[in-house]
Amino acid sequence: MNFTSQLLENYLLYKEKLLVYRHFQPEEFNKVLFDCIKKQNSNFELKKLGDSAQKRPIYHLQFGNGKTPVLLWSQMHGNEPTATMALLDIFHFLENPFTEEDKKLVETLKNHFTLHFVPVLNPDGTALYTRRTAQGIDMNRDFLQRQTPEANLLIDLAEKVQPQFSFNLHDQRSKYSVGKTPIPTTLAFLAPAFDIETTIDKEGMRRREAMQVISLMVEGLEKELGDKMAKYDDAFEVRAFGDNFQKLGYGTILIESGHYPNDWEKQEVRKYNYAAILNALLSVANGLEKDKSITAYDELPFNGTQFYDVILRNVEVEYPQFVTAKMDIAFERETKFDVKEHQYLYKSQIVDLGDLSTFYGHEEHNFEDYKIIMQSEKIDLDKNPNLVFENKQNPNKRFVVVNGVVSGLI
Ligand SMILES: [Zn+2]
Repeated sequence: MNFTSQLLENYLLYKEKLLVYRHFQPEEFNKVLFDCIKKQNSNFELKKLGDSAQKRPIYHLQFGNGKTPVLLWSQMHGNEPTATMALLDIFHFLENPFTEEDKKLVETLKNHFTLHFVPVLNPDGTALYTRRTAQGIDMNRDFLQRQTPEANLLIDLAEKVQPQFSFNLHDQRSKYSVGKTPIPTTLAFLAPAFDIETTIDKEGMRRREAMQVISLMVEGLEKELGDKMAKYDDAFEVRAFGDNFQKLGYGTILIESGHYPNDWEKQEVRKYNYAAILNALLSVANGLEKDKSITAYDELPFNGTQFYDVILRNVEVEYPQFVTAKMDIAFERETKFDVKEHQYLYKSQIVDLGDLSTFYGHEEHNFEDYKIIMQSEKIDLDKNPNLVFENKQNPNKRFVVVNGVVSGLI
């Protein structure tokens, strides 16, 4: 059974319209969350799970009274907000289904599952739009040491609810492609390994079931995303949550929100997250067949890394001390939140140069009409020299890169 089309058809009824940019502060998210489920006879039980290192609240939402516990969390990496937005849309769907059909779906979920959601598990990282927690730790490498309060909160909650499935929701960088193709990966999936041998079946484990659920999601999105889906690296990572939750029998499913063409705010990817997660849950509630095929999972190509955000092709670089060279220059974009200025800063950084003909840019510009005149320094990837791109015919037409920030054309 596939619920994806129905879910996508009605999606705009449930999309949270106050949060449509990927940059938001945890307090903004909380406000929208409280508004979404404030009604008296809410379908949700909302509790504070605990505090982050900087004493920001982390919330736990519980839905349903079925026998099957499922745990879903988002944004353990602060700069990975797509699934958090999708969870808000899912909360709207579960809290306030508009159509008769959707009401039935919500009833099904309510009776089959007890769903436990922890959105924005890393609010301190979210506030700065950085991967790590306030302690500077990558929470997804902290399962064994448990040095972050946030990791402890999630591990303790999972121990308590003993989820049959757990959804580990991340964003992956825009460099990922479907294999070596010029197609960006929009969604990547993984049923993480629980041992070095990447065994699938073992007593007490639900890795195959996780693969079956991913197969349902992939089949459901075939029409919309077809060749834009991939598999995340399946090497065992002893310190990570997914791998350890799998080991504990929590049927772990990793979803990585990647890049969709011209969707830098990730609103398309958000929509597909919403549909994939709800389709997975509804399919399981309607009976996951024991012998459900995992072919759709198996056949997903692995992520490749063929993309840069921007590539300028055929730029001429005039060095005073070397021969003039023609090269491609690749940039990656990133954002940081500047606390002092209270604003998001956008940066483009040069990450590679030379013959980049085997790579693709989400944006590409042919710069054969431009040259860069270098003074004494050379283009150094780590140093971010100041660069002036000058049009060969018209020297007044130029743009500059100062300290890694591109102004002008791109
Ligand atoms: Zn992540």
